[in-house]
Amino acid sequence: MTATTNARDVLGEATLGELEATLRGQLVRPADPAYDQARAVWNAAHDRRPALIVRCAATADVIRAVEFARSEGLQVAVRGGAHSIAGFSTSDGGVVIDLSPMKGIRVDPAGRRVVAQPGVTWSELDHETQAFGLAVTGGLVSSTGIAGFTLGGGIGWLLRKYGLTCDNLLSADVVTADGQLITTSEHERPDLFWALRGGGGNFGVVTSLEYRLHPVGPLVFAGPVFYAAADAAQVLRGWRDLTATMPDELTTLANILVAPPVPFLPEAVHGQMVVGVLGVYAGPVEDGERAAQPLRTLAEPIADLMGPMPYAAMQSLLDPLWTAGAQNHFTGTMLSELPDEAIETLLARHAAGRAPVQELHLHHGGGVMATAPSGGTAFAHRDAAYILNIIARSPDREGFDEHAGWARGTHQAMDPWSIGGYVNFTSEPGQDKVRASYPPDTYTRLVAVKDRYDPTNLFQLNQNIRPSGRR
Ligand SMILES: Cc1cc2nc3c(=O)[nH]c(=O)nc-3n(C[C@H](O)[C@H](O)[C@H](O)COP(=O)(O)OP(=O)(O)OC[C@H]3O[C@@H](n4cnc5c(N)ncnc54)[C@H](O)[C@@H]3O)c2cc1C
Repeated sequence: MTATTNARDVLGEATLGELEATLRGQLVRPADPAYDQARAVWNAAHDRRPALIVRCAATADVIRAVEFARSEGLQVAVRGGAHSIAGFSTSDGGVVIDLSPMKGIRVDPAGRRVVAQPGVTWSELDHETQAFGLAVTGGLVSSTGIAGFTLGGGIGWLLRKYGLTCDNLLSADVVTADGQLITTSEHERPDLFWALRGGGGNFGVVTSLEYRLHPVGPLVFAGPVFYAAADAAQVLRGWRDLTATMPDELTTLANILVAPPVPFLPEAVHGQMVVGVLGVYAGPVEDGERAAQPLRTLAEPIADLMGPMPYAAMQSLLDPLWTAGAQNHFTGTMLSELPDEAIETLLARHAAGRAPVQELHLHHGGGVMATAPSGGTAFAHRDAAYILNIIARSPDREGFDEHAGWARGTHQAMDPWSIGGYVNFTSEPGQDKVRASYPPDTYTRLVAVKDRYDPTNLFQLNQNIRPSGRR
């Protein structure tokens, strides 16, 4: 039986009944009223029909689901927050191991640590940790799941001060392909722990994540400032120049976007290209105001929403623009530098696109992301000065292929400055994407860990590290 066998064709009622009887969570099948809701993922571009969805109550269900999928030869999709851009967390005809019911969070305020289960989203984790004025680097959209995010790396507002999310992972529990539950940390199975931090969901199902926390907020100086298209090149050049001397407390992002019809932007620019500069200062509010001031005077702003705000509010500020159910194509690349020519290329590409929502996010790297030891985690390209995320989004399928083509073309146009990929910012699976995300020696190390923990490639719905026996 192949790894993509359709369960409907081969599994009898008795077999499925046996599986159901051994679960504490729920088994959802195509005939169930809950099926359509249970199979939906954030990116509606991936409209797939799994044969089974195991909504796991806790670790025992995960072990059971892994054993079942392995013994029946079924394709496995692992899902936490369901935000995989590439559609890795769903499958046609396979088993979805849905961890979203696993929502446990335990904060240790004195020890500045938190342990969370993989169904937790960033809004939920921030809610619990901010009660103690603590945080770990999290996603820019708070509905994103912590697990897939962390395993790929984790780029967020605390990146420059406190590193990537994966840099703050202290330990994890993992159900491996043979159904064993193991723990990993710097001291226990360090090879696996290294691989989990940037190597994605290749090595098993993570059932618990322990993070280091940092004092953040609850009030921080943060927010966006917007500039008109006429000033776009000047603003981007000015922002780029400022990034050379920014303090690590200040993490910023420049965004070339189509202005959404939101009340805080003048109606005259709705539907037009604008540039947003967004940032968070992870330190005292007054210091933040001073440090962010130059970002607010790059030209005459059309809207300046920077100010003191709760860190949790900044974490969810963008949520209304990034709801589930639209068609999305993302493609990302790490940039070594951002010369004027690269800025002109980005502006010309943005002008050439036709997607209802098209955004070019330039995340500023550096800080702790860059100073963390480069071989310390599987996450690579720490020397990237900027991380570009190219986004095309549309409410329905019409024109979507063209918009996705625009995103690919924009990626290609940035080749002269690209030094590699980031597995979490790409819609397209494929060995070329995997190879671009890791230097050759990192890739070789990842294959060795894959050989050890998943030699039959049970976990292949991810930016796949192929075990050496399965080329
Ligand atoms: C709206 C939006 C905003 C985003 N913003 C950011 C951002 O600010 N910074 C950033 O770095 N990325 C960002 N991303 C990308 C994000 O990091 C990835 O999409 C990530 O995979 C989402 O994690 P998830 O748990 O929600 O996804 P899921 O779809 O549930 O999982 C994605 C994949 O991760 C793996 N996986 C998930 N959970 C587990 C587990 N418990 N054990 C083993 N493998 C697992 C599996 O391979 C799975 O297919 C964003 C994505 C979206 C859609």
